[in-house]
Amino acid sequence: PSVLDSLPLPSAPMPARWRFEMQQCSSEASLNIAPSAQADLLYLSVSFQRRYILITFLCAVPSTAASYTDSSDDETSPRDKQQKNSKGNGDFCIKNIKQADFGRREIEIAEQEMPALMALRKRAQGEKPLAGAKVVGCTHITAQTAVLMETLSALGAQCRWAACNIYSTQNEVAAALAEGGFSVFAWKGESEDDFWWCIDRCVNVEGWQPNMILDDGGDLTHWIYKKYPNMFKKIKGIVEESVTGVHRLYQLSKAGKLCVPAMNVNDSVTKQKFDNLYCCRESILDGLKRTTDVMFGGKQVVVCGYGEVGKGCCAALKAMGSIVYVTEIDPICALQACMDGFRLVKLNEVIRQVDIVITCTGNKNVVVREYLDRMKNGCIVCNMGHSNTEIDVASLRTPELTWERVRSQVDHVIWPDGKRIVLLAEGRLLNLSCSTVPTFVLSITATTQALALIELYNAPEGRYKQDVYLLPKKMDEYVASLHLPTFDAHLTELSDEQAKYLGLNKNGPFKPNYYRYGSTSTHLSGDTLWHPA
Ligand code: NAD
Repeated sequence: PSVLDSLPLPSAPMPARWRFEMQQCSSEASLNIAPSAQADLLYLSVSFQRRYILITFLCAVPSTAASYTDSSDDETSPRDKQQKNSKGNGDFCIKNIKQADFGRREIEIAEQEMPALMALRKRAQGEKPLAGAKVVGCTHITAQTAVLMETLSALGAQCRWAACNIYSTQNEVAAALAEGGFSVFAWKGESEDDFWWCIDRCVNVEGWQPNMILDDGGDLTHWIYKKYPNMFKKIKGIVEESVTGVHRLYQLSKAGKLCVPAMNVNDSVTKQKFDNLYCCRESILDGLKRTTDVMFGGKQVVVCGYGEVGKGCCAALKAMGSIVYVTEIDPICALQACMDGFRLVKLNEVIRQVDIVITCTGNKNVVVREYLDRMKNGCIVCNMGHSNTEIDVASLRTPELTWERVRSQVDHVIWPDGKRIVLLAEGRLLNLSCSTVPTFVLSITATTQALALIELYNAPEGRYKQDVYLLPKKMDEYVASLHLPTFDAHLTELSDEQAKYLGLNKNGPFKPNYYRYGSTSTHLSGDTLWHPA
């Protein structure tokens, strides 16, 4: 501490490299500070007796805060503004192009945690597997998506993008993308009408027609089906990320209405494990803390759904000392919850006593008005599932209940007797609306999406029919392997003798398609179609 206390921290703009000799320490030790690409991030290397450690730390300077929140008081709808980037291009609609520099810093930070996409970009210097691809995307518009879009562009694709959630857009990132020449139509706090308008602006454009769809939730696919069905003549495939969107695709397929091949990215093992389980394990606490400052120890929490997301939420809350109850409809997941040490209950058995209710089922009307009426004063209610259908928020819009906005994304809903519940993000997805998710897990998803696009776009005629497919297992393994160098992880190679003994190719795939990788409950057969009953 004495050394750090004595450091004169540089003020922006910082010189290229700073060097300080530690005076209060051993003469053999020296300390270097180097600014990173971001003004508020420093690399600190300490060398002591010829050993080096590298520490990255964040300085609490105002730009960090500014990059997360939009302090602009400008209430004009972006739709009513004339917008142009510095090169005079106006084919986008975002909150404020002036935030582009902040957004660029966010993207640069994300790049550091997305090693696989950066590796694909390096490979793209030699080959452009997406040359000629015109990708229309509808996903959360965050720094991580920006790294994906810029990677797709480096791989040869043209991209037009809208947000799949009205609250999750990072305005400064959308600005950086627009400044970089991408046609982005999204801002944080869109209305329902804005949401569809943005999607329409992505697809309904003169002289440009998409030939690939990258969707998260199925709204973009639904819009094209409804409004521009002829577009499917040129579309080579759909890549869908979410449980909800994948479910819609299987329904279309079952009804014989799916007219192009679709890749179910959600059920790729690597994606599912990281995006659904590990991501939610980290971000549930963050979302709740940022919005409510709640203390978790000893709190009674009920988690609805013990799929991947539910497992992540439960593990995090249990580790913090919460008393966790689980509700499930599927006996296999229910038994898993029991074996993991959680009490399996029906919601009505615990609804009066719990302090926090979290939904993660992907279903609708899991928490209905009857339950909301019976909750205790101060109960926090939130959703980690994809859409806002899990909590019946509409049922709370009745004259006898008063709504009080207490913070951004935090509403108190007050009953006539004074009881209030704390509703987060109006029942929309908590972590993406109210916190950030770890970039590394999103890197896995984004890499899987990029490889799925490459696979569908380049597949020879006949490899994929008008059906829903999983990414070939070998590519799933490839996604994982691209992330291993980050951990300095050393993978063991099969010897010829061992490969022969196990009947495997030395380069994979290493597992049969039915292998379940621990608790993955919904991993489906490899290259073949799967229909839910
Ligand atoms: P999953 O299918 O593995 O799990 C959902 C579980 O909910 C299943 O086990 C199902 O049996 C159970 N369920 C369904 N209806 C129920 C009900 N009425 N009561 C109790 N349990 C019920 O899916 P998942 O991967 O865990 O994803 C769940 C939701 O979270 C989806 O909507 C998905 O899109 C979303 N998701 C969110 C994030 C995030 O960052 N917040 C990340 C990934 C997925």
